[in-house]
Amino acid sequence: MNFLSPEQIMWRDSVERYVDQEIGREYIRKCDMERRHPDEAYRKIAQLGWLKLIFPEDVGGDGMNIFDYAVMVEMLSKYGFDFGVAITLPTFTAMNIALNGTPEQKQQYLPPFFAGDLRFAISISEPDAGSDAANTRTRAVLDGDHYVVNGQKMWCSGSGLKNTVILMLVRTDKTEDKRKGLSVLMIPNTTPGLTIRPLATLARRSITTNEIFLDNVAVPVAQMLGKPGEGWKIIGGEHLLLERVCAAAGYMGTAQGAVTDALKYAHQRVQFGKPIFEFQVIRHMLADMQTQVDAARLLVYRAADMAAKHMHCVKEVAMAKLFASETLQTVSRQGIQIMGGYGTLPEFDMERHFREGMQATIGGGTSQIQRTMISQEMRIR
Ligand SMILES: Cc1cc2nc3c(=O)[nH]c(=O)nc-3n(C[C@H](O)[C@H](O)[C@H](O)COP(=O)(O)OP(=O)(O)OC[C@H]3O[C@@H](n4cnc5c(N)ncnc54)[C@H](O)[C@@H]3O)c2cc1C
Repeated sequence: MNFLSPEQIMWRDSVERYVDQEIGREYIRKCDMERRHPDEAYRKIAQLGWLKLIFPEDVGGDGMNIFDYAVMVEMLSKYGFDFGVAITLPTFTAMNIALNGTPEQKQQYLPPFFAGDLRFAISISEPDAGSDAANTRTRAVLDGDHYVVNGQKMWCSGSGLKNTVILMLVRTDKTEDKRKGLSVLMIPNTTPGLTIRPLATLARRSITTNEIFLDNVAVPVAQMLGKPGEGWKIIGGEHLLLERVCAAAGYMGTAQGAVTDALKYAHQRVQFGKPIFEFQVIRHMLADMQTQVDAARLLVYRAADMAAKHMHCVKEVAMAKLFASETLQTVSRQGIQIMGGYGTLPEFDMERHFREGMQATIGGGTSQIQRTMISQEMRIR
């Protein structure tokens, strides 16, 4: 197991400094409370060139490996997972275009994305296709030079934001194996026939999660990503791997922020004439919390390192996602307990981490699905 190299530590520290000095926890909290996208920070990050870091050099990116990227996500998420997601979700979605797009599609979409002028949302889930993601019913029927799409998608985060293109998993063919016959269409969110309705979810308040209704939506054939029938290969493979590494790094970064806040609070809060840190029950709770975050960090770094080396790492990525998401949920719940009533107030951030933690074990594949994947990869030696 490798820990961070000196260069990675410098990189991690510089991202942390940037988040502290140029973004700040109050801004991130405000975006959640006001349910508004962190537009200003997103623009600044685009200007820094951080939206193109992990893209291959031949499409104008910097060719950064996924381990270094995960280190950035850890720090971007230190004051809240949802802030990190506002940056990573469009990025790992756009990576699908870099990996599977035609030269024309790459030219059309990637430069405006790198500049911060265009965003992406990923739409896999449907009312009857949650964990069973391949049970896609939204139907795209070929009609001359375009597809006509009808159906309903669920839980599409960021799909209602300005200048957003939705990468949508649709059924182009009815086949016996439901994973076949799926394709990915790139649909600007202003396309006629689309209705996008915000959902009042517990978390994801700043980028907003939506349901989408499609009524005879016409999508040019040229807007298909990959070939007809390649949808599951695109989404089920590289996309979910990258999404889960980013998610796990973000959960772990936020969990560390929650533990740090709880520790500071325990030193400051005086009851019965002494800081509550002096009570052994509180100290032991903090010790458990930090131990769990450290374990999550090691799992995330291992998964990210293996992914960066293009090793088979389905099990390791699922372990990192599972453990980091459950860690965020556990430590934010314990953090509220340590902060008492104050922990339930938005100004103390812990309730937001708790809401994000509750969503963490569901989005991007539930904890149960991660455990299933881990067990499927386990072999008797
Ligand atoms: C805030 C939020 C944002 C989201 N953003 C996006 C997005 O941007 N794009 C997108 O496509 N989707 C998104 N999702 C959807 C998310 O990926 C799904 O919610 C998730 O995959 C689970 O599907 P489901 O909610 O339908 O639950 P279900 O699949 O119905 O699961 C219900 C319960 O049954 C369990 N279960 C189901 N199948 C099995 C099984 N085989 N074995 C054991 N247990 C099982 C689950 O673990 C869970 O506990 C988002 C969800 C939320 C809540």
